[in-house]
Amino acid sequence: MKLKAILAALLLSVSAITFAAEVNPAPAAAPAPAAQTAAPAAKKPQKKSALMEMLPIIVMVVIMIFLFSRSNKKQAQKRMEMLDRIVKGSRVLLNSGVYAKVVEVKENDFLVEIADNVRVLVVKEGIARVMEEEKKEDEEEVINKMVRILEKMDKDGRSDKKLRKAVRKVKEESLPKLDEYDKHLEILGERNSYSKTDPDATFMHMKEDAMNNGQTKPGYNVQIATENQYIVNYDLYWRPTDYGTLIPFLESFYDKFGFYSSEIVADSGYGSEQNYEFMFANGMTPYVKYNMFHKEMKRKFLKNPFHQANMFYNQEQDFYVCPMGQHMEHITDKRTVSDLGYISNTSVYRAANCSKCPLRGMCYSGKCDRRTIEVNHKANSYKSSAKTLLTSQRGLMHRSNRPIEPEACFGNIKFNHGFKRFHLKSTRKTKVEWGLVSLAHNLRKYVAYKAKSKKKQAQSMVLVLEKPALKPAV
Ligand code: SF4
Repeated sequence: MKLKAILAALLLSVSAITFAAEVNPAPAAAPAPAAQTAAPAAKKPQKKSALMEMLPIIVMVVIMIFLFSRSNKKQAQKRMEMLDRIVKGSRVLLNSGVYAKVVEVKENDFLVEIADNVRVLVVKEGIARVMEEEKKEDEEEVINKMVRILEKMDKDGRSDKKLRKAVRKVKEESLPKLDEYDKHLEILGERNSYSKTDPDATFMHMKEDAMNNGQTKPGYNVQIATENQYIVNYDLYWRPTDYGTLIPFLESFYDKFGFYSSEIVADSGYGSEQNYEFMFANGMTPYVKYNMFHKEMKRKFLKNPFHQANMFYNQEQDFYVCPMGQHMEHITDKRTVSDLGYISNTSVYRAANCSKCPLRGMCYSGKCDRRTIEVNHKANSYKSSAKTLLTSQRGLMHRSNRPIEPEACFGNIKFNHGFKRFHLKSTRKTKVEWGLVSLAHNLRKYVAYKAKSKKKQAQSMVLVLEKPALKPAV
């Protein structure tokens, strides 16, 4: 404001000087020497007055440019500050007019959720507004409106009890509730639920379902890595699904030991495109099943010519051939973002015409007259590599060992030693608790092993001692 006032004063003073110059012209120039002609002496004051006429316009243009660039700078700074305030979980309005929730903040863009499990990458320029700010403005507006209504009612001498009560209720009960909901959302973070007694615990399905109704209970997803039934790594996650825990779990292993395990054995719950990519990229050999692994091994599946996996694929020209010999051409590509933010690319293939095909009843059940299939080539290639590994000699050994490795540890802890629920609350404390349980499990196992080996040793010693006693009889 100060600067604007100074600039306005400057502008006024320039105009005043110009006006003064016009009203009181400068004294006439000294008479020219005789040798000089009269014409150049007459031109000089004309030039000066033209410049003086232009001066206020030039100054005004300069000032306007200055003010315009300054306000632009301010706006850009404000926008930068707004973008800096965006964190995971912030609600934003996109330039397209779509409301979204920020799932991940990256260097140059944001991963936002625009609907349930629909996530898109948005560049920073694509964010129009942060909703928190808008909400505050709305709240203030509502409160002001309420106050105005009450004031008007007092002024008019109206005693509409119902309206007064409703206005007071909105002001005193409903508006404070909004802050409460904000707090709930803050605690939730990426989750869909949390326990009131332990905000770190998330509701998930448990293996023990006494009521047999699929009831969810607050808990933690415990992950362990074992070697000869010794627990070598453990961690707790809020995600109920296993596939979302594998990468952070492998990373936690790396943080502790400084290397990745060379071979990973896990069940089909961990076999996702993202997990395979991570394991292959970091030099691990994944003996990890995927959800269709056992089904694909069955004769019924292998003999089904209508299944996409059994159709002929021409890699060079990128088309499939259906059982009737029709080409299924590549029509488009689809991009999907998983709940973990992983982007998968799927190719879509479509047959030219299926309306008169005699095999249609067996082929597909859709209403459309052109069968469409969607193929994720990258995921298929990972799955095919995993299948080769799993069906190899070493893969068979690992598959037979897996049920007696981690499952045996869980079974021993839960059923032999009765540890079926945590006694402490919060992620930090439950991690410590599970750490102690794992330590106790490993110590018990080691003691049992030592006792067993001592017993074996003692038995062999008895045999040695008995040998001389037997000698005389021989
Ligand atoms: S229904 Fe279409 S895709 Fe299926 S076999 Fe017949 S022509 Fe091929």
